[in-house]
Amino acid sequence: MEWHGERLLPRGLPELVYEVAPRWIARDLKVIAYPRQKQRGILGCVGWDDGWWVVELFPTVICRHLPRPLPEQCATDHRDVVGTTRFNAWSAFLHTTLHEIGHVETGRRQPWVPAGTYAAGRSREDDSVASHYVRYVEQLADHWAELTMDRIGRRDPRLGQPEGWIGGLPGIYLLKGTKRRRGVDWQGAFLEDYRAARCGGQLAVHHVLSLAWSSWPGDVPLRQSRPLRRLVQREAAALSIGRHYIDHAGRHHHFFNYGEAVAVVERLRPLLAPMRAEAEARAREHAAAAAALRAACEGLASASDRDDDPLF
Ligand SMILES: [Zn+2]
Repeated sequence: MEWHGERLLPRGLPELVYEVAPRWIARDLKVIAYPRQKQRGILGCVGWDDGWWVVELFPTVICRHLPRPLPEQCATDHRDVVGTTRFNAWSAFLHTTLHEIGHVETGRRQPWVPAGTYAAGRSREDDSVASHYVRYVEQLADHWAELTMDRIGRRDPRLGQPEGWIGGLPGIYLLKGTKRRRGVDWQGAFLEDYRAARCGGQLAVHHVLSLAWSSWPGDVPLRQSRPLRRLVQREAAALSIGRHYIDHAGRHHHFFNYGEAVAVVERLRPLLAPMRAEAEARAREHAAAAAALRAACEGLASASDRDDDPLF
């Protein structure tokens, strides 16, 4: 296995990838990280070249695709947010690398297709056979990457992430983020990240809640909801997870590493099910009320249209 440009990647990634890659691939694997993008939106690619499996990674593009920190007040849209910014960066780089290796590993399971089918499918993205083939191939690689990440997670509660600063290009990207002020709460995210790192955590309480349900119906502000936060803290205490950072004012900020978060989420799901059902019912009610209001407004508008008599 050979690595080029590994200084651009998070610390510890090459060692972990070497451990988890299948032996027959690792033997002939060359990973090259480039300081610039090659093609818009391409995070990485893989090919067979001169006796090597060559995985090319584009850290600048991967960084640009990281989930943004949430705006300070929001917190209803949790779709992409996995954990603190460092943890997000780590899992994104790990996933991309494993996805590319997954293409090699699952390549043997792909059906034979004429050369150029993949390229044709990529450029079209429609209902054609070539596009379906591309989606199938990508799913296989994604699936392998996720299985491998599961395996890593079962063995190492930190999902392979070394403690301390992430390093590489994602490190520079995160530091620069603190100077960006538009719309999103970079400073808050950085502070949270710092506190988490000081106690070896990777996810905050609201991350655990959003992990329990990636999308919450209606408006459930996870970061502000006290009962929900208390629930998480109680379940964590029941599992004897007491990872927290104490700030200068003496407040305890609770954090979890990946393995702890998964354990808490498993206990939370059944407890949260009734609350979620209630929130869903309320969201449905709101939608019905809004629809009725809209219909009434339309009825009013059309009634005034019909009224030909001048008012005065
Ligand atoms: Zn792919």
